[in-house]
Amino acid sequence: MEQYDIIIIGAGPGGLTAGIYAGRQGTKNLIIDRDLAGGLGREVPAMENYPGFDNISGLELIEKTKAQAIKNCDLKEMEEVTEIIKTDDEYRFTVKTNKDEYKAKSIILATGSSHSPLNVKGEEEFKGKGVSYCATCDGFFFAGRDIVMVGGGNSALQEALYLKNLGANVTIIHRRDEFRAQKHLQEMIKQAEINTLLNKTVEEIKGNMLVESVVLKDTKTGELTEVPTNGVFVSIGYIPHTELAKQLEVELDESGHIITDKNQKTNVEFVYAVGDVCVGLKQWVVACGEGAVAATSAFTDLQN
Ligand code: NAP
Repeated sequence: MEQYDIIIIGAGPGGLTAGIYAGRQGTKNLIIDRDLAGGLGREVPAMENYPGFDNISGLELIEKTKAQAIKNCDLKEMEEVTEIIKTDDEYRFTVKTNKDEYKAKSIILATGSSHSPLNVKGEEEFKGKGVSYCATCDGFFFAGRDIVMVGGGNSALQEALYLKNLGANVTIIHRRDEFRAQKHLQEMIKQAEINTLLNKTVEEIKGNMLVESVVLKDTKTGELTEVPTNGVFVSIGYIPHTELAKQLEVELDESGHIITDKNQKTNVEFVYAVGDVCVGLKQWVVACGEGAVAATSAFTDLQN
């Protein structure tokens, strides 16, 4: 069984940065991801607030970060960690995957999150047939077509702009009368003349082979209307991946995110957490910062 000082679970921005920092400290480290490196970061159409780049796509930044990470540590993609068991030996954790088993002295959880579903009738049935959670993956198919973007946060507005640029006729549907997104994004939506329907919730997604319409409910009057559309993009937030954290009895807050201290330590000794799975600001640059802190904390704790 291969032995590592630090095993990092998740190869998003936080996990990859932890790998870079851990490797440069001289420890032997492994990053494992059940998918390709990048996580949801691969889907970010454009970032204008990552220092050093006026505008960079998530995919491009991930590829650069991954190339840097694999100079500093091992990386296994498309391998899923199924169980982590605490043991009494020097290598305190046995990490079981669907392919192998490893030992580690420390664990960094960088397990990220996944898209929240709307949980409405028709959503499951029309997934991949007009219902999408990823503008950068599926937007291409909607050039020249009508789509609705559900959500009022930064992601929804950013993705609406991306889809509009691809030539889709976008309508944003939001459940309140004001957006949660940053003001500059709201301004860009106005400038791009993107339609908005406020105080509306999606009650049902309808169609035959493909999506054909959405049924909306006015949150003030209760009135139902049916709006024809070719696509429904859902961007209403994220659910943190905490299955492994729960196995390790790591403490979560009431929203289900991992609680860490300022050194990214969880309540479980030698277990650290970084990125979107943690309580705190969900930003690329924050995940990277947390990755650097966690790797440094793990290294310091291994010396003591
Ligand atoms: P978010 O900020 O949590 O916004 C989710 C949006 O979906 C909110 O407008 C919310 O409405 C709405 N919503 C939630 N549940 C809903 C439901 N069941 N039905 C209808 N609408 C629902 O999520 P996000 O935009 O994906 O962003 C996640 C995090 O990443 C945030 O911290 C965000 O700041 C960050 N982010 C930053 C950038 C950037 O800096 N440029 C870009 C993308 C994301 P209410 O407003 O009524 O709650």
